[in-house]
Amino acid sequence: MEVISVTPRGYCLGVIRAIELTKKTIQDNPNQRISMLGMIVHNQNVVDYFTKQGVICLDDTNKTRLELLDEIEDGIVIITAHGASDEVFKRAQEKGLIVVDATCPDVKITHTIVRKHIKDGDVIYIGKKNHAEAEGTIGLSNRVHLVSNTEDVLNLPNLENVLITNQTTLSILDIKPIIEACKNRFPDAIVTEEICNATRIRQEAIMKLENVDALFVVGDSHSNNTNQLCAIGKANGIKDSYLIEGKWQITEEMLKDKNRVAITSGSSTPTVLTNDVIEYIQEYASTSIYQKADKSFSLDF
Ligand code: SF4
Repeated sequence: MEVISVTPRGYCLGVIRAIELTKKTIQDNPNQRISMLGMIVHNQNVVDYFTKQGVICLDDTNKTRLELLDEIEDGIVIITAHGASDEVFKRAQEKGLIVVDATCPDVKITHTIVRKHIKDGDVIYIGKKNHAEAEGTIGLSNRVHLVSNTEDVLNLPNLENVLITNQTTLSILDIKPIIEACKNRFPDAIVTEEICNATRIRQEAIMKLENVDALFVVGDSHSNNTNQLCAIGKANGIKDSYLIEGKWQITEEMLKDKNRVAITSGSSTPTVLTNDVIEYIQEYASTSIYQKADKSFSLDF
């Protein structure tokens, strides 16, 4: 069996920045209560690492960021890499909280584009419903209209001077038909496609894979960019594309009779988890003996 470690893979700069900011906040403020407004990045292992150090992670998919903010009495609130609306920042300040902003600079670029355009037009924002990044961006103005598929585009009201943009972690394949549907309805619309570079180059690396029998995408099912890597593997003809949290989820069935196996990971996946998967599969490739892996790993940033 040939084992391919796909590059690029794993952590992007936005995730590294959010993790470093959180570490620094903990170190600099030993006596303050620190809360995260959602998962700092979409990986439960990273969140668990920080909650063990006393950070409170407020995460409830049924609640908006504003509702979660109501649960914080005092101390520091960390805005996650996915960003938040202006209203969230304003309310946090009104409550007297210290705000640490870990919003990814790429998300901020989209916010700047949207803020500028809503002064004299409407924005169609292509994104996932209930995703933190989409919530933050559509929360900037009621002139920002969320669409997640082509059907949503048909249901939009009449809009003026339209700009089309999107969530940074969407699939480069899925976005095309949605932009096309928007352009059919609003032919004069301007398109500013904002899939971030980290997402794009990780997806393109999967699309370039040839003659691969199985693809392992290491990451968390909360992570949109991780899910998209798996979906792109399938769209690229790799029927056996698996999203796994770590080596312990690999079964013998997934490896059996495979000649070429590729491994990648989402941009919020800790490197140790991906390296463990690579080593584990390399070991199987050299011995052809399957041994179920246990869930032991140590995260250190
Ligand atoms: S995936 Fe893109 S938008 Fe998200 S944190 Fe990384 S660089 Fe930023």
